[in-house]
This record gives sequence, structure tokens and C-alpha cells, in this order.
Amino acid sequence: MAVFSEEIITRMEEAECQAEQQFREIDRVVDKNQFKVIEAFQKHHVSDFHFAGSTGYAYNDRGREVLDLVYADVFGAEAALVRPHFASGTHTISTALFGVLRPGDELLYITGKPYDTLHKVIGKPSDGTGSLQDFGITYDDVALCADGTVDWDTVASKITSSTKVIGIQRSRGYDWRASFTVEQIGEMVKRVKSLSPNCIVFVDNCYGEFTEEQEPTEVGADLIAGSLIKNPGGGLAETGGYICGRADLVELAANRLTAPGIGGEVGAMLGTTRGIYQGLFLAPTIVGQAIKGSILAAALFERVGFDSKPRWIDKRTDLIQAISFSSSEHLIAFVQGIQRAAAVDGHVVPEPWDMPGYDHPVIMAAGTFIQGGSLELSADAPIREPYIAYMQGGLTYSHVKFGLLTALQTMKDRKLL
Ligand SMILES: *Cc1c(COP(=O)(O)O)cnc(C)c1O
Repeated sequence: MAVFSEEIITRMEEAECQAEQQFREIDRVVDKNQFKVIEAFQKHHVSDFHFAGSTGYAYNDRGREVLDLVYADVFGAEAALVRPHFASGTHTISTALFGVLRPGDELLYITGKPYDTLHKVIGKPSDGTGSLQDFGITYDDVALCADGTVDWDTVASKITSSTKVIGIQRSRGYDWRASFTVEQIGEMVKRVKSLSPNCIVFVDNCYGEFTEEQEPTEVGADLIAGSLIKNPGGGLAETGGYICGRADLVELAANRLTAPGIGGEVGAMLGTTRGIYQGLFLAPTIVGQAIKGSILAAALFERVGFDSKPRWIDKRTDLIQAISFSSSEHLIAFVQGIQRAAAVDGHVVPEPWDMPGYDHPVIMAAGTFIQGGSLELSADAPIREPYIAYMQGGLTYSHVKFGLLTALQTMKDRKLL
């Protein structure tokens, strides 16, 4: 058993007591989402044979077809495309965007610059990489107002007849801003549609799934995408992504993922199907565990004097807990401390590195069963001022608690507390 200082244990006990009421609120969301998922499974008569997987072209893979139907129902969407063939969240989002955008169209992000890995998907005009802009799709974004809300005056001035897709990022990603709740996204959709009824509203839903009782597709978003090695994979999906939304748009994304004419009708699931189904079944509960861990982290680190976002008391709409440290030493000690709690690779000491797709060196704690799986306890931090660590996930609440204790103890051992 690891040894933690008396003081750290006391702070932890205080933080847990403080968060009690919030935890009950999370349990309510978990129940709602768990019922919703079970009802979708039952409606489509999910049975053992659906889990069998498929090979070759995989025509008529009923497990794959029903999986799409179940996801569509859970997300309140007309259609869904849930596939292990999506290599990552970035690939999934890229597929959705390339699926619906054509040369001459514009993509306008209204929640500021998107997540780091999408910068190269958007690219630069004629950059020769095959990016959106290389294909003659134009791009612009509108920075958020100082209070974290959408700058509607600027959005209104930038929407033109070529604005085809409005991009919204639900989660903060690597930004020190608030994430957007589903209710706020619903209001954004209404406002966008009043400015330009034909715009397609796309939501990057990464990290958001099952943190609230509704998803963006239930409040009018036309198309959403996310990663199966985050929330909806429930820690069991081994790879993949999903796209949900209007049936015509999901079909265009499917044409982009495979090829026009075959779309979502082919694609061997190999042995991935059961994990994707079972992961979806577990996802509401695991997301609840992770969120409780995030709330605990906020309460605890506020107690020892660091800023957190969201605060422990704030309503949650994603898994990410940002904690702001005063120096790179604190930041690195925190991330290395989280790693020390891992069941897998707990002996490894993470160091900052130049990760593909990111603009700054990044340090990551990821002792995970699924490589990079961030529904599992993990922490990432770009090494840049003001030294913010983004932690997320935790398949069990106790694991997060253990991680927070080892992180604090690591900081204390290095005389940083
Ligand atoms: C994780 C994430 C992505 C990209 O997913 P990867 O699997 O890392 O490629 C995009 N947007 C947001 C908001 C994310 O959290």
C-alpha cells in the first residue's frame, strides 16, 4: 500500500465530503443514460449472434447494422455510422467534414479554434497535404468572447452563402474555457438556423457523451462525431469512432470512409463488435465514475491552492478536468504522479515529447489497457504557459482517487506543495 502523508489524506477526506451532493446528481444522469441504452438494445432485439463479427466485404453483417441503429436511437439521431475503421477521433471528425464539404464551401467554427489535431485536417490553401483547404474548402473561425460565449455579431458578419458547415466543439479540449452544455448547443443551433437555415451544424462531441441526459443531436445538431476510445466505448471498445445525425449526411460520411456506392454497406468488423456493444452498455456508468473523479480532483486541488476548471460545483458536460499549475515542475510532477497510480505501466515515467498533430511538446500520463484510451485515467499537458494539466477518465472512481493521492504525494516529495 502506498504511503500518503497525513495531510494529503485529510485533504482527500474533506474533498470527498464536499463533493457528496454533486455525486448524487451524477448518479441521476447515469441512471437516465443507462435506461436509454438498455431500451435501445431491447428495441432492436440485440442478441448473441450480433456479436459474431465478420470478415471480407462483410455484406449483411447484422451486428454492424444493428449497432448503427442502436447508436442512432441512443443519440436521438436519424442514422449512425459506428465503425472500428475510424483510426481515431480526428479521423472520424475528418471523415464527417470531408463527407459533407465540397470545394468552394466554407467551414466556420464558432467556438474558437478547434482541437489541436484538427489544425492539420483544416490545413492551408494549396498546402499539398490533402487537407480541407488544399481541396479548396475555405475555413474561418470566430474566437469566443472574453466571457466564454459565442461572439454572435462576428458570426453573423462571417456567414455567407458559401458557409456550408458551422463547427461547434462541445468540450474545452486544451483550452482554458468552459465547455458547452447540450442546452447551450441547442441555443447555438437555433441561432445559427435563424441566421442561415441551410447551414449544417456539426458538433465535435468528443468527451461529451453521457455526461448529460441529452446529446447534441437531440437538440438540433445535424451531425456529430466522436471517438470510441473515449466515452461511448465504455473502456471496452478497442478502436473506432461514430458519426450520428441526419441520414443524408451520415451517408455522405460513409461514402468518404469507404467509397461512393458502397458507403456503410461493407466493412469487416473482425472481432470488435462485442466490445463496441458491451462498451456502449457500460459507458453511462463508467462515464459517471470518471466524472465523479473529475469533481473530486477539482475539489481537492482547489483545497491545496490551485485553480480548476470546471470548479467542483459546476455543471459538467464533458470529462475533462483542467487544473492550472504555477510552473512546469508542478505540471510535470502532477502528470508523473498520475502515471504512478496506473495498473498498466505504473512503473513508467512519462516525459514531454513532440507528439504528431500537436503544436507544443506534450506530456501524457496514460497507463491504459487501450493505448491512448482517455476514458481511462489519463492526463495530458502541453508544456506551455500557464501550465495547465488536463486530466480525464477513470474506469473506476477509486482509481481516480488513488491517482490524485499519488499526484499530490509526488508534488509533496519534490517539495512543490
Ligand atoms: C480527443 C479529441 C479529438 C480528437 O480525437 P483523437 O482520438 O485524439 O484523434 C477531437 N476533439 C476533441 C474535443 C477531443 O477531445
